[in-house]
Amino acid sequence: MSFIVAIDGPAGSGKGTITKLVGKKLNLINIDTGAMYRCASLYMIRNNIKLDELDKISEMLKNIKIEQANINDVDKFYLNSEDVSDMIREKEVNEIVSQVSHIPIVRERMVELQREMGKNDNIIMEGRDIGTNVFPNADVKIYLDASAEERANRRLKQNDQKGIEMSYEEILENIKFRDNNDKTSPVAPLKQAEDAIYLDTTHMVIEKVVEEIVKIVNEKRK
Ligand code: C5P
Repeated sequence: MSFIVAIDGPAGSGKGTITKLVGKKLNLINIDTGAMYRCASLYMIRNNIKLDELDKISEMLKNIKIEQANINDVDKFYLNSEDVSDMIREKEVNEIVSQVSHIPIVRERMVELQREMGKNDNIIMEGRDIGTNVFPNADVKIYLDASAEERANRRLKQNDQKGIEMSYEEILENIKFRDNNDKTSPVAPLKQAEDAIYLDTTHMVIEKVVEEIVKIVNEKRK
């Protein structure tokens, strides 16, 4: 039986960084489900597939291969074997990813792939609906949160490091837009699972959050 840690929370709550660090410390394979929806979004942009073209989307789901690999301690994402790690963080993808992720056939397929990944390996998976929908029986569930302003600040710093140009206002607006979209979606809305542990990280440094989660997981693993 595999051991599963589910990390959920809104955009910029620190899920990506924290999941990676906890995974490394505890020897769990980390999986970024947001990146999977981003890959599908990039494919749609490139192939000019509109959000309501369900036939084309269904065809796409049969043809795309999405992979995540850790190369020299950097998470890389591949769309049909092409490294798209940077492209999936671009503005055009940000603008549609939330809507793409709420197309029922897209979510169905991605959830299927995600469950597949948790079958044989010990994993830490981050997203919006991992504890509520993908793995309702996960061994540990964490819900990470932070104020929208703090999350926008974090994203701004990340983007600067990656050379992505977006103003603080633009980022904040996008975060609020995605929060609203994610929380009100009829398909797997973002919400805390009843048995998830809530961590507000607004005033917490990353190391402290990691330490806290490692402690929780180790307790559970005993
Ligand atoms: O985590 P990230 O910001 O990369 O996710 C991109 C978008 O994908 C989110 O805004 C959300 O709409 C969607 N998503 C989702 N379910 C997941 C992961 C991401 O709906 N499990």
